[in-house]
Amino acid sequence: MSNRDSNTSTTSAFQQRSLKTVWHPCTQMKQHETFPLVPIVRGDGIWLFDADGNKYMDAIGSWWVNLFGHANPQIGAAIKDQLDRIEHIMLAGFTHEPVIALSERLAAMTPGDLGHCFYASDGASATEIALKMSFHYWQLAGKTDKTRFVSLQNDYHGETLGALSVTDVAIFKTTYAPLLRPCTHVMTPDWRYAEQGESAEDYALRAAAALEAHLARHHAETAALIIEPLIQGATGMGMYHPVYLERAREICDRYQVHLIADEIAVGFGRTGTLFACEQANITPDFLCLGKGLSGGYLPLSVVLTTDSVYERFYDDHSAHAFLHSHTHTGNALACRAALAVLDIFEQGNILENNSTRAQYFNTAAAALSSHPRVRHFRNCGMIWAFEVDTGIEHFSQHFFQAGLKERLLLRPLGKTVYFMPPYIITDTEIDLLVDGTLHILNSLNE
Ligand SMILES: *Cc1c(COP(=O)(O)O)cnc(C)c1O
Repeated sequence: MSNRDSNTSTTSAFQQRSLKTVWHPCTQMKQHETFPLVPIVRGDGIWLFDADGNKYMDAIGSWWVNLFGHANPQIGAAIKDQLDRIEHIMLAGFTHEPVIALSERLAAMTPGDLGHCFYASDGASATEIALKMSFHYWQLAGKTDKTRFVSLQNDYHGETLGALSVTDVAIFKTTYAPLLRPCTHVMTPDWRYAEQGESAEDYALRAAAALEAHLARHHAETAALIIEPLIQGATGMGMYHPVYLERAREICDRYQVHLIADEIAVGFGRTGTLFACEQANITPDFLCLGKGLSGGYLPLSVVLTTDSVYERFYDDHSAHAFLHSHTHTGNALACRAALAVLDIFEQGNILENNSTRAQYFNTAAAALSSHPRVRHFRNCGMIWAFEVDTGIEHFSQHFFQAGLKERLLLRPLGKTVYFMPPYIITDTEIDLLVDGTLHILNSLNE
């Protein structure tokens, strides 16, 4: 059982040292005066172990990156093997087998003629690459007015300045507004915003009409529409009907605007298909991948684009090249981790197994979805989410702390509780997750 309340000396030693020098992400550091950090010393599958021997189920895949568990022997062995060959070599003027093999396999498994892979280390950098490539493409094509981007209300694309410009999350954005480029966020297709009685499909079609109205007026100055396909993750796992993607593709084609699909969170099976775009049978002009790409093991992201974009840059002039660079682009260790992840997909019928997992989960979660405090219980592939009807202040922090006592790592987004477990979660673990969550909901007193 958890003994976090007793706050043993090991934990407080970690706490003291960490708070002195480590500035933690997405955190008001002062809150750690009251909320202790959790010092993790090892992981095994879906479980994390702290310095006092408590274990926690990683029900959110460590911020959506972990697909096949912690300390996965197959991924670990691939990285160790690569470590004894070559850990890293700059990718300008050099190449190596892992980056070639990974690019070949990504090209083969992604939709349409997406097949030219440009690498970086994190999701936000992938967003920056896609935005810059799109803008630069139109410059080379003589459409020099195309300097603007459009995204969806409630979209999240990362937090570097360019990525934050196309992100629509006030808490991350407002402070930095003077530094950002203007961007229009068109109506979200997230079904939670539909009128009473309006179907997910009808609402998505209404949102698509709003997109069309915007581009009809502004296409001449718009380089690209960037969207999170099917699920708007960071603003609370908003889910929408795939018909929106289908329409967005048609509208972008009609108005000569690039479509950038940011599948950093949902790529690699999260929505039930390998890539979310497959559910609308569309090919974006740019596909951004990150997070699960390396199974959550090493920082790696990639932007895939089409032949026609690639060929626009292919020229005798150096200045027509895409001169963007990241020092660790195409890192060999990270590529080997990603190749091991793709091997697991190939060997394991992962998507079919996930579909069985999801069916079990939905049955097991019946008491959750009908719980009096639960609103908008929803599921897409291997993501579950719901809003909690509560007046508790700082609900997210409260729920996180209550989760730790139930041996669950859960980190609500505002009042949205979500599950994004590694794909290896078992029936027993699903039961534990649902029971623990119910226990927390039943103990809420406001
Ligand atoms: C996490 C995320 C990003 C940013 O990725 P980082 O690696 O955190 O920079 C971008 N887009 C989406 C949809 C994400 O979920």
